[in-house]
Amino acid sequence: MQKALEQLKEFDAEIKALEEVQAVLEWDQQVYMPERGVHGRSEQTAELATIVHQKNTNPAIGDLLDKLDASDENPLGSADLDDDDRRLVRAVYRDFRQATRLPADLVSKIARVTSVAQSVWAEARRKSQFKLFQPHLEEIVGLSLEVADRLGYEEHPYDALVDQYEPEMTTADIARVFRELREGLVPLVRDIAAARQVDNSVLLKAFPVDKQEAFSRTILEALQFDMSRGRLDRSVHPFTTSLGPDDVRLTTRYDERFFPTALFGTIHEAGHGLYELGFSRRFHGTRLASGASLGIHESMSRFWENVVGRSRAFWHHFYPVMKTEFPDQLSGVDLESFYRAVNRVEPSLIRVEADEVTYSLHIILRFELERMLVGRELKVGDLPGAWREQSRDLLGIVPDNDANGVLQDIHWSGGAIGYFPTYALGNVYGLQFASRLREDIPEMENLVRQGDLVPIKAWLDEHIHAVGRSRTPRELCEEVAGESMSARPFIDYLKQKYTDIYDL
Ligand code: MG
Repeated sequence: MQKALEQLKEFDAEIKALEEVQAVLEWDQQVYMPERGVHGRSEQTAELATIVHQKNTNPAIGDLLDKLDASDENPLGSADLDDDDRRLVRAVYRDFRQATRLPADLVSKIARVTSVAQSVWAEARRKSQFKLFQPHLEEIVGLSLEVADRLGYEEHPYDALVDQYEPEMTTADIARVFRELREGLVPLVRDIAAARQVDNSVLLKAFPVDKQEAFSRTILEALQFDMSRGRLDRSVHPFTTSLGPDDVRLTTRYDERFFPTALFGTIHEAGHGLYELGFSRRFHGTRLASGASLGIHESMSRFWENVVGRSRAFWHHFYPVMKTEFPDQLSGVDLESFYRAVNRVEPSLIRVEADEVTYSLHIILRFELERMLVGRELKVGDLPGAWREQSRDLLGIVPDNDANGVLQDIHWSGGAIGYFPTYALGNVYGLQFASRLREDIPEMENLVRQGDLVPIKAWLDEHIHAVGRSRTPRELCEEVAGESMSARPFIDYLKQKYTDIYDL
């Protein structure tokens, strides 16, 4: 039994290392690679994906899992193993089962198609021409359906796609939580729209990009993001990736005429980065050194970005610091006006720039469209029109071009259908965790007012970061929040915060 376990760990370490190499290529493609490098790169990523797939589907892993007594009924394997080892066995078992259901030629085809599609998407977005991207997306939807069929599902092919990003979550679960969200958010947005709008003109002044970057780095330091174990760079679409246990890369983008893009984007990515840097050392080099799910990952980024980064307490400390960096731009703007400005709620077209109240509506929009595309109720060619219709229903506004609508996100070009719901689930989990954090650290707000974020990070390290993938999202939510997934804490938090800001 111990010998089988050691062999399984060797395979796991090898796969983990290759995945980190994949991350290097992906990071380079998004950050540094020249435009015409794409064809060579797509060959490289396809070759590597094939190798990783072979490693992941090595029949020897299946034999070892058998020896360790892992099965659908008993994914944790033998009760003789210690707790960490059983959780590793469960993770390997799940990945092996998923991977062996996908044939190697399908996996390498997806890597090749999406690598090209990503660069076509960037061009289509620049030119705001959905037609350029359409044939690529058609191919991706077709491949996704093939993936769903191979992985298997009970009710809806979308279940199989979602499960890749949020284990154990079904279309029906998401529809339930999203209904709860919609019922809470739509009336709140309506009440806010009827209230007197806050003045956000301070956000629209010119903030030089180099000074924005310097201030973002100041905030990263306060968040205790360790620059000896990470970097901050620029990319079209901000993201975070781990190239190794002590090498976590954040990216952001700068808009000289709207500093929140970079500042809150950096805080958001730092939330992901702190998670990646916080895995228990005993999991390093294993697949348990990763997030419990994308939804849990997003709960960390959105907690730091919104619950901390857009709080009155946070700016009580950091606004005076920011004022010394940008004395002209912020002259005559007091703390309260600034706080309200960074929390202004207004339905807008671009998801990544949406406020925290309307944000989840952008996700519900994408969920509805993806569910229809995968359920063959909607053709790719009809997507721009369906997008406009959903946008009108949910947000009350309609994009005037494809770049501001259906082409705004990179996800579909990378083959990530079923990924979007995890963003809104992150809001939901995040406030469930925050409620528990407030119980454990009642003085949290006072600490934040003094710029002391150390106890918050320590709490997250202990309860969420360190745990990594040793818990499923369902287990983690129940262990940390003491309840199953619920949108209630998130909706209550928004109501309280915005009743105050908008004097509802
Ligand atoms: Mg994120």
